[in-house]
Amino acid sequence: MTSGQHEHDTVPRAERGVLRTTPDTYGTSRNGLPLQVHLPPDGAAIRHVVFCAIHGTEPDSTVIVSSALRSILPGQLRCAVVLAANPDGVLMGTRGNAAGVELNRNWPTSDWSAEQPPHRWTLEDPQDVRLSSGPEPGSEPEVGALRDLIERLDAPSIVSVHSPLACVDDPGDSKLGRWFSERTGLERMADVGYPTLGSFGTWARERGRPSITYELPRESINEMVGTHSPVFAALLRGEAPID
Ligand SMILES: [Zn+2]
Repeated sequence: MTSGQHEHDTVPRAERGVLRTTPDTYGTSRNGLPLQVHLPPDGAAIRHVVFCAIHGTEPDSTVIVSSALRSILPGQLRCAVVLAANPDGVLMGTRGNAAGVELNRNWPTSDWSAEQPPHRWTLEDPQDVRLSSGPEPGSEPEVGALRDLIERLDAPSIVSVHSPLACVDDPGDSKLGRWFSERTGLERMADVGYPTLGSFGTWARERGRPSITYELPRESINEMVGTHSPVFAALLRGEAPID
């Protein structure tokens, strides 16, 4: 992969400071922020839904995909892009939303559990920090709105962007997962190795919606804008296999 590969149809660097697409609002966060999605031009089919920062502690996912979105011409967009699925968490710097709910454990799945989901303070620590999975499955406005958006758009596949596990979680062994892996060197895995009750991935699988989880590595945003954003730019232009 070279950064100049699509130089002829990318936005000049001087003009990449701002987003050129006007997002639609698909819901409201618990603290009242708009939940926003950037969509392809009218009439263009949506190949993938891409969403970032369902965990507020993963704002690197927002910056990497925003940089990709700002690198392509608005007319080239072939994905629906949610830059922050959990905007309250991003602003507060918390993994969960404003109610302390882990939004990736709040999806209405057959395995949703009221047990408090654990996570790690740092990757070196045990999973000893507790959040809530919500009072009931799908209770949180950010989850309900994203679920409705995905159902309404009915795109062929979904990419959720996280950090910093450095892998492509690709339970369906998909062409899209291989495409990502070939371009980034990220290892493809069938699961992340610990239970994720009530997760988006399980919800998607139970509804027959192909999805992969893209886990950015433990690198600086500065590095990843150079290495991962061009891959996402190609994805957003519709150059990746559908699933
Ligand atoms: Zn995450």
